[in-house]
Amino acid sequence: MTKRMTKSGVMLVIFAIILVISACSGNGGNNSGGKKESGKDGKIKIGFSLDTLQEERWQRDRDLFKAAAEKLGAEVEVLAANSDDAKQIAQAESLISQGVDVLVVVPHNAEATAAIVEKAHEAGIKVLAYDRLIKNSDVDLYVSFDNERVGEMQAEAIVAKAPKGKFVYIGGSEADNNAHLFKKGAMNILQKYIDSGDIQIVYDQWSKDWNPAAALTNMENALTANNNQIDAVIAANDGTAGGAIQALTAQGLAGKIPVSGQDAELAAAQRIIEGTQTMTVYKPIKALAEKAAELAIKLAKGEDVGADKTVNNGKIDVPSVLLDPISVNKDNIDATVIADGFHSKDDVYKNAK
Ligand code: BGC
Repeated sequence: MTKRMTKSGVMLVIFAIILVISACSGNGGNNSGGKKESGKDGKIKIGFSLDTLQEERWQRDRDLFKAAAEKLGAEVEVLAANSDDAKQIAQAESLISQGVDVLVVVPHNAEATAAIVEKAHEAGIKVLAYDRLIKNSDVDLYVSFDNERVGEMQAEAIVAKAPKGKFVYIGGSEADNNAHLFKKGAMNILQKYIDSGDIQIVYDQWSKDWNPAAALTNMENALTANNNQIDAVIAANDGTAGGAIQALTAQGLAGKIPVSGQDAELAAAQRIIEGTQTMTVYKPIKALAEKAAELAIKLAKGEDVGADKTVNNGKIDVPSVLLDPISVNKDNIDATVIADGFHSKDDVYKNAK
């Protein structure tokens, strides 16, 4: 009798050990398929790791994402890395060790942040790439806009104003996959004009960290190298457009040369009304933030996210959801950016004469 009890006691201990081991490793595999336990209070906890809060749009992303996630009963911990790769990885590690259920990442560097995906997966946490793709990784989901289309819209609007001549391309951050997609989109439109000889790209540079000051320097260099003989500027976003327009202003050229942008930042919307910027691309951030919040929670719960597209990131075809951007100029700014409440009419027309 005693012997039998000892035997079953040993069996119990072994069973307990197996349970503990499988519980630990069950958490470790991204493909474990099991649901991750949420916080003590049962709330899903989302870690939101942002590259930067420098541009106006990211502050909006942060606020709208937080609001949307909280409305769905989750809580959000936000950290921003000030364009510093090491910092972004360290911040993500800290979110992982805090026990978040899912990570949402706006990568500063498309390649470096693959390390975040690896670390998160080791802890059984899924990763959603927000607005910018994480390359060469097993990232679980990508939620963004159709960024190649953004670049096409920029070039279409500029070519409509300047179908011939010397073009300057003021790119975004080389480390951001989006910057490459915007450029690819622009080239989709420009290539046939380049081939026919109607358009020449006389200057083409990235702007480090999307910094407007880098764009200003780029534009100054472009003007100097071409004796101010420039016919059009494709700037990848409103921040870089601002830098480019500052350089044009210094040469008395602002408003005389078409310039593109992106983000529908207030300063850019005002420049469109003033006539120094031709267009911007409006990306309804609320729709992006809400979609991402909804799908991040689904990822955390191990539910199907129903992504209808895939985008290859160099390693895998990443399930993707891509929203539609909207091309905005003077003629439709009221019906788009203002009608949507993205900016008020008073703010946009503040400097109108
Ligand atoms: C975003 C743009 C933004 C830029 C600079 C890109 O990845 O898609 O909306 O202007 O980063 O922050």
